[in-house]
Amino acid sequence: MITDTTENAELEAIQRELESLSLQKKDLLDKQERLNLTQHNGVPSLYNHDSPPDTMKNKQHQDSEPCYMGAPPAVPAPKVFTDVQELPSYSAKIRCPHCHAFVTTEVSYSVGPVSWLVCTMSILLGCVAGCCLIPFCMKNFKDVHHKCPNCRSHLHTVKKL
Ligand SMILES: [Zn+2]
Repeated sequence: MITDTTENAELEAIQRELESLSLQKKDLLDKQERLNLTQHNGVPSLYNHDSPPDTMKNKQHQDSEPCYMGAPPAVPAPKVFTDVQELPSYSAKIRCPHCHAFVTTEVSYSVGPVSWLVCTMSILLGCVAGCCLIPFCMKNFKDVHHKCPNCRSHLHTVKKL
């Protein structure tokens, strides 16, 4: 019986200790909450002190974000022409038939029949005050001469008519 009572007493003591501990825990939690509140509501100095770490956090967050590299812009590979007869009305890549080097042609423009035709038509339409000279300034109406920049030989003339 004696052991029982001592055991009971011990149990009671433990119970009391537990209760007091739980009370202390409550107090501590309350204190923590109050501290959190004061931090959030902000004594200005505290707030300022807090803000740099926040930005640091954001920076770190941004850094840790995966960096997505977009696909490179789809630029079509420049067409290499094989026949001088196929040359377009702009500078193009071709294998020079004279020096056999892969070159980008030099283009020059000269007044061709189309320029004259457009000029004549504009005169017929009443554009006699200088407007009829416009076709001589527009590359679209001129013939295109392709030259090899390597050996300076004439490759082809793209005629507009
Ligand atoms: Zn050449």
